[in-house]
Amino acid sequence: MSEIKSIKLVGRALITFDIEAMTGLHIGGSDAGVEIGGVDKTIIRDKLTNRPYIPGSSLKGKMRSLLEKYNGLPQNKKIGQGYIHTCDEPGDYKTCKVCQVFGVPGEKGFSTPTRLTVRDAFLSEKSAEDLADKTDLPFTEVKTEVSIDRVTSAANPRQMERVPAGTVFGGFKMSKDKKEIPQPAEMVYTVYEITENGQVIHKAETDVERLTVLLEGMKLIEDDYLGGLGSRGSGKVAFRNICLKWRKDPAEEAKTIGRESYPTLAEFAADFENVKNAIKL
Ligand SMILES: [Zn+2]
Repeated sequence: MSEIKSIKLVGRALITFDIEAMTGLHIGGSDAGVEIGGVDKTIIRDKLTNRPYIPGSSLKGKMRSLLEKYNGLPQNKKIGQGYIHTCDEPGDYKTCKVCQVFGVPGEKGFSTPTRLTVRDAFLSEKSAEDLADKTDLPFTEVKTEVSIDRVTSAANPRQMERVPAGTVFGGFKMSKDKKEIPQPAEMVYTVYEITENGQVIHKAETDVERLTVLLEGMKLIEDDYLGGLGSRGSGKVAFRNICLKWRKDPAEEAKTIGRESYPTLAEFAADFENVKNAIKL
């Protein structure tokens, strides 16, 4: 007997925020063949504007990797030099919040749609203005690090490109007629109800409850770092001006849940249970 699965999109939580670099931030670009002013490690830039940005994949990947460790999940799949976690068995997947929220590579017969989409975060107009003409390279600083060869004691200076501390991603951008257009960083979290042969096997409430995974991931990042060179002081970030909106009907405006905006993650976290409970399925 074949099982008929239906997947119903119940609604979407749109979480917007700004990301502030509390220390210099280095999210690596491709160093292949492009040497800019002798810099060894360059950062990723938006091709159109030449401004630094934070790829959604960096944010999502870091949240996932920290959550895997926070939940003690088996690191069972080899990727490049290291290992990551992926559920291979339907039984494991059924109870794995991380794989359900963040997805599993490729299509698996047992997998359900990835709940979370993380969009790229662009340099705010204010930071672009503040940094203009003040930095070593456009919008970035060059940090020299000296590593010492432990055998010969020879110093080996390396140049790292970083977005300076205080830079904000999100905020707004300017339209051609000089109007401020909001462009916050954004995560979209989709809530599904899944039925099999007419029986509900996954309740929408469960997905709403799992929004907590996002909050945990954001907290873990604030205590850790984003991008590279983290253990040497780069990549501390803070989430600012967080707002959660909920949309059930695609034709309707998304409704703000809780406060219009939470200045810090701590304030968002303090009100998070109320926010979750206020989501009307
Ligand atoms: Zn898993």
